[in-house]
Amino acid sequence: MKSTTIFSGSEHQWIVFGRDESKAERIIDTNQYLIKTASEAILLDPGGIELFSPMLSGVLQHLKLEQLTTLFASHQDPDIISSLGLWDKTIPNAKLYAPWLWEGFIRHFGMENITYMPIKDEGGTLELGPISLRFIPAHYLHSSGNFNVYDPNARILMSGDIGAALEKGDVPMFVENFGRHVQYMEMFHRRWMPSNTAKNNWVARVRELEIDMLAPQHGRIFKGEMVREFLEWFEKLDVGKAG
Ligand code: FE
Repeated sequence: MKSTTIFSGSEHQWIVFGRDESKAERIIDTNQYLIKTASEAILLDPGGIELFSPMLSGVLQHLKLEQLTTLFASHQDPDIISSLGLWDKTIPNAKLYAPWLWEGFIRHFGMENITYMPIKDEGGTLELGPISLRFIPAHYLHSSGNFNVYDPNARILMSGDIGAALEKGDVPMFVENFGRHVQYMEMFHRRWMPSNTAKNNWVARVRELEIDMLAPQHGRIFKGEMVREFLEWFEKLDVGKAG
């Protein structure tokens, strides 16, 4: 499991884990994001059950287990949070922030100790040590209860499946050429994003945010000008099509 620090500020850091070399061929590659302050840390979309061991050892290279106080699941999918039952035994005092809509489903991954903190449809704010994070609604993109995490200080939007790309191998961390990247995103967005209305509403809201990096759960991260290019491309894309 590779880890790369993508933001380092006076109060906190963002570290991305991904490009897992032990991943089985037919499992989709995922990005896991750790936001770390001096006192505590949150893991965004902790990943699948098969990733738990490399993720735990990866996280422990950056902090002590007691510092990992919080988990976040953007939605209910197995590649997002099927590791929950193992985290539950490892950090029993932690809190999991996840959409209220999915509580009865996510608990099937095994959850006896961690506290479920339901996020309301309108989103909300999370104070993590000295920093403040915002849960941005991204419902129907693709899940019917779905959130992004925005960090106004680092100007990073963790966008979940929005901006995801399916590209094989140990690919670079950032998008270098937007035009060439489209081929890895197009089918994913057309097929997994069900609603043009939800998409256009999200694009309008996200344009109001100051974003230096748009960080999806699969594939490369968009930085600077690439963020604007992505929003333009996504706005024009007709989604909700099978075949
Ligand atoms: Fe998903």
